[in-house]
Amino acid sequence: MYGHVVLRVVEDARPATMGEPTPNWLDRPNLPAGLTGPSGERRAGYGRYGRTWSYPRGIELEDAESFAVELRNRVERRGFDGLSFSHPGIYVAPAVLGRAEVAMGALTIDRELDVAVVTFDLPDEPVNKFTDAVIEEFDATFERLGTDTSVSAIVVLSGKRDIFIAGADIDGFVSIQTREEAEAVSREGQAVLNRIADSTKPIVVGIHGACLGGGLEFALAAHYRVATDDQKTQLGLPEVQLGLIPGLGGCQRLPRLIGLRAALDLILTGKSARSQKALRLGLVDELVPQLSLRETAIRAARRLAQGGRTKKRRPGLWDLVLDRNPLGRRIVFSQARKTTLRETKGHYPAPLAAIGAVEHGLRHGLTEGLKREAQLFGDLAVSDVSRKLVQLFFATTSLKKDSGVDVDPDAIRDVNRVGVVGAGFMGAAIGAVAVARAKVDVRFRDTDADRVASGVSHARSHLKQAKRRRRLTSHDVDRLSAMVAGGVDYAGFEERDLIIEAVFEDLEVKRKVVAELEEVVPDTCVIASNTSTIPITQIQAQATHPERVLGVHFFSPAEKMPLLEVIPGSHTASWATATAVKFGRAMGKTVIVLRDSPGFWVNRILAPYINEAAWLLVEGTSIEAIDRAMTRFGFPVGPMTLIDEVGIDIAEKTSKVLHDAFGARLAPPPVVDKLVKAGRLGRKAGKGFYRYTEGRKGKVDRAVYDVLDVRPNRDPKLGDIETRLMAAMLNEAVRAVSESVVRKPRDGDIGAIFGFGFPPFRGGPLRYIDDLGPEKLLTNLEHLASRHGDRFAPAERLVEMARTGQRFYQ
Ligand code: NAD
Repeated sequence: MYGHVVLRVVEDARPATMGEPTPNWLDRPNLPAGLTGPSGERRAGYGRYGRTWSYPRGIELEDAESFAVELRNRVERRGFDGLSFSHPGIYVAPAVLGRAEVAMGALTIDRELDVAVVTFDLPDEPVNKFTDAVIEEFDATFERLGTDTSVSAIVVLSGKRDIFIAGADIDGFVSIQTREEAEAVSREGQAVLNRIADSTKPIVVGIHGACLGGGLEFALAAHYRVATDDQKTQLGLPEVQLGLIPGLGGCQRLPRLIGLRAALDLILTGKSARSQKALRLGLVDELVPQLSLRETAIRAARRLAQGGRTKKRRPGLWDLVLDRNPLGRRIVFSQARKTTLRETKGHYPAPLAAIGAVEHGLRHGLTEGLKREAQLFGDLAVSDVSRKLVQLFFATTSLKKDSGVDVDPDAIRDVNRVGVVGAGFMGAAIGAVAVARAKVDVRFRDTDADRVASGVSHARSHLKQAKRRRRLTSHDVDRLSAMVAGGVDYAGFEERDLIIEAVFEDLEVKRKVVAELEEVVPDTCVIASNTSTIPITQIQAQATHPERVLGVHFFSPAEKMPLLEVIPGSHTASWATATAVKFGRAMGKTVIVLRDSPGFWVNRILAPYINEAAWLLVEGTSIEAIDRAMTRFGFPVGPMTLIDEVGIDIAEKTSKVLHDAFGARLAPPPVVDKLVKAGRLGRKAGKGFYRYTEGRKGKVDRAVYDVLDVRPNRDPKLGDIETRLMAAMLNEAVRAVSESVVRKPRDGDIGAIFGFGFPPFRGGPLRYIDDLGPEKLLTNLEHLASRHGDRFAPAERLVEMARTGQRFYQ
């Protein structure tokens, strides 16, 4: 077994004078023989973060390990800051030197006769990803194996459990400052993958687990792809989700491999394909059980080395008509642009850039295509949209690791059995997600037997649907269906770990249910009350064990909506909160923990926005204009459509609670109540602001204006509508933050993005305030207050922020 040693000198800044670095202290004797010297065994290169010296020539793994230790000791002994690299033409000021990292390389090589098996296992990391050093190591390794006459073919496998390669290192990516630098990174990576693609020796990858982004681009550069038939195996190019395009040749090699339409579908959505689909698309050549991955890959490599050919995907009729014919391609590209513009409304430049990169490559050849791809990657990498999406990625990643309270991790309980009380609209949906996603035993309890039956059947049909979407196998569906049951009493509740209560929105009913539950459930069982408006502290007030009672707020439809608000009351213990958070995540939700305060977070900041939309309507602004202004801003739907979706009766209740709690500034105009009285409850009633036929949204129903006794007159400018609605929402958001409703700005932004579709490319309401400038928001509010009254009076914290120049994110 062979390994590598990589020394990275991480500098805070590049030295003033650069030349080929010769770290003479490393050249001194007593390093293991074969690592240095004139035979070209040492590689030195400039990475973006400093210099990387790697010693990729195969040395015995043990030697490599002891060499790494020796280097590390030296670095520590000498103190890296004090090292001076004095060599003609090179001067590295001690001050600019940062840290030195010495690590074992990420690749080890063993041999199966003439086949070299390279195992990628990035040390000290949970996943394999492409860092600068890894890319250099790949390059050096393939170069060496390419010239090694005893090697006839190469197989690449992962040493990680369920990950092949997760993609490029995003931590490293964010330090890129200029578009030129980003383009250079892309070009350098492309050059390495080109060398791999051009290798005269066949390179076969054996994929198990996630093979994403740069990982898939590497696999595409290889000559043959074997994948496991496991559920965990997924291949995709998710770059557009970070506002980027695949920049390591993905926009070129994917359409050449699987055809134009299929490639655009993967690149433009960023979705990944599981193994079966990947095989169907021709993205992988062979599927095997995990146990035979290595053996199959080696066999394939040897076959190719002996002149065997790879099977080519046979083109279908549409491939010939559309993908392979210039006129057909023109149609595909124009259609793709139209669809993309319709979906992104011009807010996300990456998908259009990806179309451009693919088109350029198909028209002018691979080399030109790669060049264009790198240029576009450079432009996008430093764009504001990409920065925002990357920040959001980091924010959601850090949120996933945060239990929302200070808690001893050992105190968090495992949840295997869940009870759902109230099998109505929300309860049935919550139970369905609990069994399908968290795969726990679910027992419904409702006073109404029909509701119990429909809850159970809803959960089971949800499981079947998950199978149709290939999220579950038939075996899963059978097993999980048997784990759903229910009744009109509390039988089976004595062994529940967590209860989610979703009975009527009525404090007394909820308290009664908590009291009944406390009679039957074990002391360790968490009782979570699903409510959108009732203060949790009141629900838990009369409980014998209030410490295990808390609030959860699922959004409707619970099967689809990604956010979950978890609200501890004043008496809730942190273990109970952390247990609910962990279970919410197991249900696939993005969870934020909030302070118990009316409307929690999402409804609190939505209420003034919805009210303001209603005020505009009362003043004679058309429903279409209000919705258009906000979809133009980037919301998936405008406020009027949103109310129709939520249910106008539900909006009325929430708005009343917030009005009672916060007084005049949240007083709704008489719109929603009039509509409720007229039976216009939104989509579920077939009519609200819009008409719905067979579930499809139609046009604005003009009859609404009669019900409200208003006549749409001249619409204000869309920009003015936007300013007004956003000012109302943002001002309330600042207030809620100053009352510590959210624990961090991060949670507030994620809550708004996942809760009601605040435009991700704007980073969330609090980041948007930072970008807009608190000063500007303050001016807007003062102006609006002078025209529309005190409801626009600026929040104190905002005035303070404007005065001191403070921001939510420093
Ligand atoms: P729903 O009327 O559809 O369901 C309530 C169910 O509770 C009914 O099946 C009823 O028979 C049952 N029930 C009533 N008292 C009971 C008791 N004592 N024991 C057992 N079962 C009892 O209501 P829903 O829309 O599902 O709302 C449930 C909860 O979820 C409410 O607190 C609501 O505010 C909250 N919520 C609803 C939405 C929404 O969009 N509907 C969104 C978020 C939160």
